[in-house]
Amino acid sequence: MKYTLKDRIKFVEQINSSNKTAVAIFSFPDLIVLEANKNYLNFLNNSYNKIDNIMGRKLESIVESYKESTLEKTFKNVIKDGKPYYVNEFNFKEEVYWDLSMVPVYVNGEIECVIQSCVDVTERVKNRNIMEKQERVIREQKQELESIIENISDALVIFDGNGDFSIVNKAARNYLFYSKVLNNVKEVCEQVECTDMYGNLISDESLPAERVLKGEKLSAYKIFMKINNKRINVELNGTPVYNKQGDFVAGILCFRDITEKVKSEEDLLIKTQYGLLNRMVENLDLPVITLSYPDLKITHINQKAYKFMSGLKPGIKSISSFKGKNYCDIITNFNKYMLLKHIKDIVNKKETSYLKYIRLVVDGEEVFVKKLYQPVLGLNGELAQVVVIFMDVTQEIEAKLKMEKTLKMHEQFLTNISHELKTPLNVIFSSAQLLELYLKNKSISENKEKIIKDTYFIRQNCYRLIKLIGNIIDLSKIESGFFKLNLSNENIVSVVEDIVQSVSEYVESKGLSIIFDTDIEEKIIACDPDKIERVILNLISNAIKFSDPGDEIYVNVVDKNETVEISVKDNGIGIDKNHLDAIFERFNQVDKSFTRNAEGSGIGLCLVKSIVELHDGKISAESKLGEGSTFKIELPLRVIENEKSVAENKCNSKIEMINIEFSDIYSM
Ligand code: ADP
Repeated sequence: MKYTLKDRIKFVEQINSSNKTAVAIFSFPDLIVLEANKNYLNFLNNSYNKIDNIMGRKLESIVESYKESTLEKTFKNVIKDGKPYYVNEFNFKEEVYWDLSMVPVYVNGEIECVIQSCVDVTERVKNRNIMEKQERVIREQKQELESIIENISDALVIFDGNGDFSIVNKAARNYLFYSKVLNNVKEVCEQVECTDMYGNLISDESLPAERVLKGEKLSAYKIFMKINNKRINVELNGTPVYNKQGDFVAGILCFRDITEKVKSEEDLLIKTQYGLLNRMVENLDLPVITLSYPDLKITHINQKAYKFMSGLKPGIKSISSFKGKNYCDIITNFNKYMLLKHIKDIVNKKETSYLKYIRLVVDGEEVFVKKLYQPVLGLNGELAQVVVIFMDVTQEIEAKLKMEKTLKMHEQFLTNISHELKTPLNVIFSSAQLLELYLKNKSISENKEKIIKDTYFIRQNCYRLIKLIGNIIDLSKIESGFFKLNLSNENIVSVVEDIVQSVSEYVESKGLSIIFDTDIEEKIIACDPDKIERVILNLISNAIKFSDPGDEIYVNVVDKNETVEISVKDNGIGIDKNHLDAIFERFNQVDKSFTRNAEGSGIGLCLVKSIVELHDGKISAESKLGEGSTFKIELPLRVIENEKSVAENKCNSKIEMINIEFSDIYSM
């Protein structure tokens, strides 16, 4: 049976079972179109829109750019080899692909013609190329993503529903695994101890990964993790991932170490708080400094504290130079160990307390300060700083010391007074007993001399008692403000001279001499003459008491222009310089062992000083042990307008006064 060319084309079309198959039959070897189907026209120029137009034409004339094309080469191969060629996705020209076959048809062992069939598969190739490209992109993106996940600074783990890890990035490995191989969420949880921001332990079922496994989303969840004994502060974000059916497919947990960040936030907060505190402190009218803990370095110092501290350390010239200095190098007289213990105690008891006052020398002056140490806690409750507030308690302490001294002096006074009261009473009592005896024995006339002596003793000791009691009463009057001066304008020179004259006989009877001298005849000043006489008598009485026979007493009145100076000088036993300052103090007596001829309560000079000061005058004493003493009184030059009349009968009262003032000088 003989096949026509058309039959052959049909046959080829059927083989390809595609109605898009283009078929053409070419003569061999000159490749002239013998037959072609309609589809073949689609492969040619538009000008060849009819089969008849191509029939009998050479292939090279109907196919555009045939020369040197891959199609020409393939045809040439078919002609050369005489074998069929099948090329899938034959790239005929740019962006055009064919599934191509070229089959030589043999008749009687000779090639009769070549059948070319082709299907345009450009679309398929293009689609596939696009898909391949997409796959490549996806693959690359996946790699990129994996590399990002691997290398991001945040730790990231992805796990399945069983908690088995599918991805653990480098940071996560560094945090969690170290050298250990941990494959599962549970294994990790066993190795890590988690606490919340308040330090409470997080139970196993509430651990972040477990919560994500249960479907919870975590956002910026902050906890502390203790891994391999290292405690870090982490912030976690976690999310469960579900498929379309709503099944849990993966859990993603991402966390980062925020230890440093939190610390710097805390530092900033603390800095802000301290800034506020320091501004408050700056304006306080108390010396305040802040110290770092536990090295106790000065971090802040307010103006008041600077003044105080620069008094302690005059070498340090500015506030900034104090900063950074060790507190213990500035305030040296305390024990650092005790201080740290004290601060810890305060923190534990959560209450402020004062330390015992200390004595410091500020600008050369003695001051007593109490210090209050106030611990300042950081955000986590740790001791961050210590605020030291200084309180100047000098006045308080001085008053306390003075009070203690006064109490001691009171005690001393009572001892002295009881002795002073008892001694004259004993004398009076025994003299009275003797008189009684003489009366009983009726031996009065025989004992006349003794009776005279005894009555003298009784009178003398009564004066002593009167002086003592008078002094005590006056002193308490002065203390309570009831002691009043009876001022009148007097010639002070004659007031003093008269009193010296009145006692000169008595003084001389003691083997002493008394000399009055003055550079002025008259100086009228406002004074209470009785009180001034008492003062002068007291000073002369002391001069007698503490002098030896043969010694001299000088009483001088000198005009000092604005004042009158009255001095009483002796060359007696003198007062040692340690006691000199104290002799004007109440109840103060120089140790009895240093004195001779002395009886007394230790209130005479105190009273003298008070009387002088009531006159707005001053009293001072100079003395050298073994050489004598000088007491100087300065009275202001002033007169009063409305004088009160001075009491009459001065003469008798003066004698009485002398008797009283001199009553404690030993006699007979
Ligand atoms: P008293 O009543 O004890 O004499 P005073 O107040 O008059 O008390 O004197 C206080 C102390 O001062 C005396 O006890 C004595 O020790 C000392 N004193 C006072 N005047 C003299 C003086 N002229 N010479 C030596 N010591 C004196």
